[in-house]
Amino acid sequence: MAGLYIHIPFCKQACHYCDFHFSTSLKKKSELVNALCKEMVLRKEEIPGPLQTIYFGGGTPSLLDAEDLQQIFKTIDDHFEVVEAPEITLEANPDDLTEAKLKMLAASRINRLSIGVQSFFEEDLKLMNRAHNANEALRCLQFAKQYFDNISIDLIYGMPDMSDARWQENLDQALALGIPHISSYALTVEPNTALQKFIEKGVVKPVDDAVAQRHFEILLAKMEQAGFENYEFSNFGKPGYFSQNNTAYWTGKPYLGIGPSAHSFDGNTRSWNINNNPKYIKAIAADTLPIERETLSTIDKYNEYVMTGLRTIWGVSLEKIEKDFGLKFRTYVLQQAQKHIEEHLLFLDDDRIVVTKKGKFLSDGLASDLFILNLS
Ligand code: SF4
Repeated sequence: MAGLYIHIPFCKQACHYCDFHFSTSLKKKSELVNALCKEMVLRKEEIPGPLQTIYFGGGTPSLLDAEDLQQIFKTIDDHFEVVEAPEITLEANPDDLTEAKLKMLAASRINRLSIGVQSFFEEDLKLMNRAHNANEALRCLQFAKQYFDNISIDLIYGMPDMSDARWQENLDQALALGIPHISSYALTVEPNTALQKFIEKGVVKPVDDAVAQRHFEILLAKMEQAGFENYEFSNFGKPGYFSQNNTAYWTGKPYLGIGPSAHSFDGNTRSWNINNNPKYIKAIAADTLPIERETLSTIDKYNEYVMTGLRTIWGVSLEKIEKDFGLKFRTYVLQQAQKHIEEHLLFLDDDRIVVTKKGKFLSDGLASDLFILNLS
């Protein structure tokens, strides 16, 4: 089983906090869709089995029209084996989700929407420079629910000037709408973003870690009360609504990433495409792959497994560590975890090391304590 990720590198406008790869000029959209389809054909041998998940990420995949989607799905059907009921997700922005667009998407093979709501409040959306307003956020979800059952929304917490009460109201709004999956992230200040410059100039207040931690605690409590499982640090799903695509990433399944800046993983090697639309189109037109590759060492694989495992409810399996890396690694990880088990930040669940509720916000730091830097 494998996953296919397709990166759609276009956005209507640049959000102030974003460091993903995208262009705000849509002039090359058709050329790019042709290049995506050709890259899939050039790399089809890299997929080891039938596709279980297909994920349109971005950028803003909801900028694709019906013809673009038909062309992409035809290429998939002509060149890949797909399981009987694949999960097919499309990331969408509220301002694109008119009723006509939702009808078109529902008539395609997309069966899951991941909607970039971020906040239901105008002041937050303005600060982030989102292309939609609070009204559109609400309205698009009311419509989306008529056409899709499997819907996820993104919400951002820890924003400057976001009070605890406003964060709670955001969550209450999402819950009142009956959305079955929420991905929620703390606002982070990435280098070379508009947000970083505004903070440096004193136009926007700096992000406060203590506020982010408080908002995370509110999030955990509200989601638990509403019957959601926090199956990964930033992801909350009702039973039956966990993202199969993301779960496959976290459990180390192979995936092929198509499009500018897309990453791939085949079990041993990570690769990533050039993050420049014109150079990507030119390379693919010349039958070359604009890719860099890195083969993971045993230590890289162990550290990645510990890092992602500790962020999930499935934790880090001692049996898997022994099978994949050897007894020495199992002994080491148990030794390193001991102190945190005594502090009730980690616990042993049969053969698994899992973070406790108290340890959740610290999970990245806890993982780094279990890392191996060199084999000696
Ligand atoms: S819509 Fe998404 S990808 Fe595009 S700029 Fe905003 S956050 Fe980044």
